[in-house]
Amino acid sequence: MRILKGIIMLSLAVCLLIAVSCIIKSGNEKTPPSEQIIDEPKEPGTEQEPSTSATSPTPAVSSPEHGALSPTPAVSSPEQAALSPAPEIEIEPVDYSEIKPNESGDIPIIMFHNFIEDLDLTTDVEFTTSFDAFENLLETLYNKGYRLISMRDFIDHNISVPAGMKPMVFTFDDGSSGQFNLIEENGKLVVNPKSAVGIMIKFSQKHPDFGLRGIFYLNMDKEEKTFEGAGALKERLEILTSYGFEVGNHSWGHFNFSESKNRDQIYERLGRNQKRLQEIIKDGSFYSLALPHGGKAPEELKDAMEQGEFEGTRYFHETIMAVGSTPSVPSIHKDYNPGYVARIRSQGKEEIKFDLTYWLPNMTRDRMYISDGDPRTVVVPKGKESLIDPEKLNGKKLITY
Ligand SMILES: [Zn+2]
Repeated sequence: MRILKGIIMLSLAVCLLIAVSCIIKSGNEKTPPSEQIIDEPKEPGTEQEPSTSATSPTPAVSSPEHGALSPTPAVSSPEQAALSPAPEIEIEPVDYSEIKPNESGDIPIIMFHNFIEDLDLTTDVEFTTSFDAFENLLETLYNKGYRLISMRDFIDHNISVPAGMKPMVFTFDDGSSGQFNLIEENGKLVVNPKSAVGIMIKFSQKHPDFGLRGIFYLNMDKEEKTFEGAGALKERLEILTSYGFEVGNHSWGHFNFSESKNRDQIYERLGRNQKRLQEIIKDGSFYSLALPHGGKAPEELKDAMEQGEFEGTRYFHETIMAVGSTPSVPSIHKDYNPGYVARIRSQGKEEIKFDLTYWLPNMTRDRMYISDGDPRTVVVPKGKESLIDPEKLNGKKLITY
């Protein structure tokens, strides 16, 4: 009798799952990916130096509407606690046929440059976003199921976004003050609410599960022009990283590496940038490089982009980030090339081909990375296991369903 009851219950559950999966499937079929366009990305290497008007510091708000954004120790956030790789981690088992995880799918890595209040004040149409547009974008991404992960976790494939959610990485180039700057409030340095980081902090208070993550690629020769505003550069970097944000190498002097003449020149551009960081933050390290102008070094000098040494300072870049124009495969994918990782540019005043506005409707469920909610396992639909490089699993269990 008990067995019969069990069979009936099981049959009911299966029927329900089939019904749900049919609904999801029919939703996907409405927006078939245009393979031809997706497979033909715009040639990277067209990044222009953003106009100076766009990089001018945002006036500090004397009495911000939303109050001071004082840094909270990164360890206190619930999300951070969930990230710690404790072996006794308790994760609710999920029904794969319902969630349909695909951890071989694409992960979008978004590239931002400048942020200002009023887009009418800049002539730049490609690389500047308004604060309002950025706030709306966060809402859109959140509602579409994207959750932010760090570059570190992207590289390590330590992806702990909830089951059914899609990981995303935010990257910021050039250290502009619209991305992040400090203001003084009651004698204390706080994050300007009118900056991308200020907006992200406020957003994460409303939606803590969105994630407060991002990597900022810096040109250390800019010195105090980096995140221009109140406080010294050291204080700015300390406060930025106290929130869990990361910093990356964008070269000394925003160098176009396609013009590299020899290995020593590359060592100097990358090593000097790292050396200057360590003079300011003792244990600071750039472990990822974003190519200025998207310019790659000639093939015979490529190894110097990854690692080298300058005046006793060593550097090692675990990822080298391109400019534009597709989502990236995850780091466990057999096609993953850490020497050239694709990014998608955020939209500026005008839509540019293959920017985020193009990709949002084209990043359909069937091609994207859908998490199973457990960072210890890699779950893919049957038939997709051949896309995963077993050598990159690093002890994680590969599951097919
Ligand atoms: Zn740049």
